[in-house]
Amino acid sequence: MRIVNNIKAPRTAVNVCFIIVLIFVGILMSSRVQVLLHRFTEGQLSRQAQTIAEKASQVFETELKSLSQKAGAIEHNPEDSSVVMHSLQPSGAGMRLGLVRIDGTAVYGGDVSVLDFAGLQSSFRGRGMISFSAGKGLLFSYPVFNGPNIKYVLYELCPTDKIGENFSISCFEGMGRALVLSAADELIVPFENSTEEDRAFFFGEELSDAFGKLLSDLELSSSAARYTDTTRGGYYVFASEIPDTGFYLAGFVDYETASKGADSIVSLVGTVYLMISLLFVIGSGYLIFTSGMIHSNDELLKAKLVAEEASRAKSDFLASMSHEIRTPINAILGMDEMILREYDEPALRQYALNIRNAGNTLLSLINDILDFSKIESGKMELIPVEYEMSLVIYDLVSMMKPRAEKKGLSFIVRADENIPRVLYGDNIRIKQCILNILTNAVKYTETGSVVMKVDQEYIDESHIYLKVSVKDTGIGIKPEDLERLFSPFERVDETRNRNIEGTGLGMSIVKRMLAMMDSKLEVQSEYGKGSEFSFSIRQEVRSKAPMGDYEKNFIHNMQEQLSYHEQFTAPEAHILIVDDIEMNLTVAAGLLKNTEIGIDTALSAKNALELTEKKEYDVLFIDDRMPGMGGVEMLRELRSQTGNPNTAKPCIVLTANAISGAKEKYIKDGFEDYLQAHRRGGA
Ligand code: ADP
Repeated sequence: MRIVNNIKAPRTAVNVCFIIVLIFVGILMSSRVQVLLHRFTEGQLSRQAQTIAEKASQVFETELKSLSQKAGAIEHNPEDSSVVMHSLQPSGAGMRLGLVRIDGTAVYGGDVSVLDFAGLQSSFRGRGMISFSAGKGLLFSYPVFNGPNIKYVLYELCPTDKIGENFSISCFEGMGRALVLSAADELIVPFENSTEEDRAFFFGEELSDAFGKLLSDLELSSSAARYTDTTRGGYYVFASEIPDTGFYLAGFVDYETASKGADSIVSLVGTVYLMISLLFVIGSGYLIFTSGMIHSNDELLKAKLVAEEASRAKSDFLASMSHEIRTPINAILGMDEMILREYDEPALRQYALNIRNAGNTLLSLINDILDFSKIESGKMELIPVEYEMSLVIYDLVSMMKPRAEKKGLSFIVRADENIPRVLYGDNIRIKQCILNILTNAVKYTETGSVVMKVDQEYIDESHIYLKVSVKDTGIGIKPEDLERLFSPFERVDETRNRNIEGTGLGMSIVKRMLAMMDSKLEVQSEYGKGSEFSFSIRQEVRSKAPMGDYEKNFIHNMQEQLSYHEQFTAPEAHILIVDDIEMNLTVAAGLLKNTEIGIDTALSAKNALELTEKKEYDVLFIDDRMPGMGGVEMLRELRSQTGNPNTAKPCIVLTANAISGAKEKYIKDGFEDYLQAHRRGGA
């Protein structure tokens, strides 16, 4: 549906925009999450750096503690050289112990200068100290008391080249690197297991920026960490003061190691976002789809209303078409009938006969189209009446036998004489079905015969199955064409049937009409040999007496037809015919001429009402559709008049309205009867 697509298009565009915004927000969000993650990791790292620094501080403290114990031992036995010598056993590889006087001269071990190690001064003032001298090493010093005075300072020196071996710091399970620097940024403890590359990286350009910021952070807090992008990837640098030393710890660790754990938060957030986005896309897709559906449902509803309106318009059109077309055709056929009755001149009669044939073909064509439309729109109703089957057969034979014989075909009728004389059903529709089948049999047969069989099958006392079959020796139907036989407007075997007139409606009408009467058309056909069409219809029996030989009736009627004469004359009767079409009045008056009935005509309802006031009529025939006052209105007016001699006279409506329910409507309007100008088969 184009309208639906047109409406769907902007909705789709809006949704595409939404998706783009979603992607944009996604990108923004991911970078924001990344920043948050860095902040989070920096905080974590800063705390971890503090912990590492505390551990380093503990190592130094342990060293000082062991020095204090040794100083204690010496203090109690300063003159016992064995105790002193035992106390001077170094605690780490390459470390050296010594005892110095206040001027720095050694009592035991080597001299150490107060100038090199500022901590010595403090120790002479009574404190354990750690001091560093570039090139000389790391010195731990502790006072040795002599009563309240300090007599010596005990020291332990770790030479520069041994510091790494004894004090290097392991962090992040070996994945990170950390060192200890003095307040003057001298390297005290180098990286553990570090390569030249690591050192160059740490002290090089790449991290210097981050370090600069890190150091200013340290002015505000005791530890800090920062993220930076480098050519080696993302790295965190961290630093923390080492308590009680005046030194600080610094190091770096790569992004992956540092953000372990936090990474999963990012992927979690990412996944959640992705799922929400996915849900949104699915949701909006669903909305587009359903809104399309809702819209197409709206459209369908609208289309249904339009179709219903169109169907109503079609019915109205058909009603007026049946009137507008059939009225002039009836007039033509009526005039033609008068020519045939009144003139003997052969050429004129031939022309008149041609007009009759063409007129009848036209009428049957219109009737087919009307019937089909009526069935399709559900407006065809069955009108069951009591009827004589022998007359139906007679009508059919009288219509079809001459046509068949004209083609050189033998037309054979096999009718069961025991069929009950009076049946109850829609004889017009039954006759129409048989007529359609017979017409085809004659149409599609070039040589041979057409056999019509009418039988009965007993059901119960008051019902029979009326069984009809028509067999021809015609062109037959291919098995593959049998299905299409009942498709409206479709003709089968077109190449062969090219020259045979037809609309492709006949069989569809028969099928549908039989279905209305709970029956079904059976077809048996052999291509090139002939076909047999049959059906059986349940009918009520109204008179059990056998119908007898229909042919006697037939011959009798044929003889009557050869010389047409009126069945009655009524010179004392008077009728009034009202019709706005003058030709119709002429035809009616002409056809009734020999009955000697006194006929008055009026061209309008107004004119007719004037006539009724002056003269009493036996019957009034009134046309339904007239300009100004219509037939129904005129009847109402007539019935309401007092003093009018025709107020209660029988009025019969004249109409070409073939729409079902018309008769009932007219009777309800007050007419005595209804005379339809043309209903095939003639009622
Ligand atoms: P049409 O107006 O073309 O006759 P119908 O609906 O009456 O339309 O028939 C449909 C088609 O069935 C015909 O065009 C014809 O090909 C085929 N058909 C109907 N009756 C016969 C038959 N007795 N013999 C052969 N073909 C037939």
